[in-house]
Amino acid sequence: MRIQADKGRCVGAGMCALTAPALFDQSEDDGTVIVLHPDPPPALRDAALRAVHSCPSTALSLSGDLPAPGEPGNPT
Ligand code: SF4
Repeated sequence: MRIQADKGRCVGAGMCALTAPALFDQSEDDGTVIVLHPDPPPALRDAALRAVHSCPSTALSLSGDLPAPGEPGNPT
């Protein structure tokens, strides 16, 4: 699993950093997202999925080995 952030779409809402503070932070300059762990360890994959789904501007996306819909770790 890999996390990508599109800073051009990020509006600095901070939901990602609130949802998964181990994975995301925000720039002190403009509030845009900083991905702390683009390749999250297995223990943080659920948190990564929740954070991606919490982003109001769809600035975050995941790629790689994702859990299928209905599997643990996929809330869809
Ligand atoms: S939740 Fe989305 S819009 Fe808000 S800081 Fe994170 S990436 Fe940016």
